[in-house]
Amino acid sequence: VQPRRSIVAGNWKLNPATLTEATTLLRLLKANFENHRDASSATEVVVFPPFPFLGVAVQELQGTGIQVGCQTIGTHEQGAFTGEVAPSMIQSMGVTYVMLGHSERRTLFGESDTAVNNKLQLCLAQRGLQVILCVGETLQEYETNLLASVVDVQLKKALVGVSSQDVLERIVVAYEPVWAIGTGKTATPSQAQAAHEAVRATLTALYGSHVAQGVRIQYGGSVTPDNIDALMAQPDVDGALVGGASLTADSFTRIVDGG
Ligand code: PEP
Repeated sequence: VQPRRSIVAGNWKLNPATLTEATTLLRLLKANFENHRDASSATEVVVFPPFPFLGVAVQELQGTGIQVGCQTIGTHEQGAFTGEVAPSMIQSMGVTYVMLGHSERRTLFGESDTAVNNKLQLCLAQRGLQVILCVGETLQEYETNLLASVVDVQLKKALVGVSSQDVLERIVVAYEPVWAIGTGKTATPSQAQAAHEAVRATLTALYGSHVAQGVRIQYGGSVTPDNIDALMAQPDVDGALVGGASLTADSFTRIVDGG
């Protein structure tokens, strides 16, 4: 089995407030990454700015090896769907990743497992796009030992109709316990490892162990430069999805570099 290349992603959410601030953050990232990295460096790096800043992100990050992704996508490819954004549009701008199923999309915007699956199919139909698929349990589900079954159902419903080749080559799973997102509470390394084992067990049941062993699983939930090393030391933790700490160029860079 090939070793899995680690992947660190920054989810900017609805930040920053202006194009000027976004450009500043992008330039600071560019300065950090230009100095000592190239596209073949060990860790794959992706940032997920809000839609209006995707174009400038692609421009500013050219030559840094940092890829650009968007935080969700619409449900159609073209036509009379006012307000929507299509995979072909963002792909044609140089965006290479789409994040799907983030818990904020699920809880605040009513995104169902079926919607996540539809969007995933739409993204996979667009050559050149990869997907970070987010799953994770709430605090109540965690406390009642439902972690494995919640994650199992979310994955199975999201992956309906998705080929093993696409899962292996184009999908990264982000395990994000909802109780750890933006709360300053982090899963302990052993809690994260156990959850990632559960994710891999579902992938094994669906696609067999060759595929399951090849899929990268990120941990997300209050990741900082101080806790990244212990999380990454776990055998099934292949990277991180970083929210708050990705809004500061130096902390994000330190997370990519390891503590
Ligand atoms: C996230 O939004 O995916 C996330 C993990 O946020 P934070 O790092 O701020 O908890």
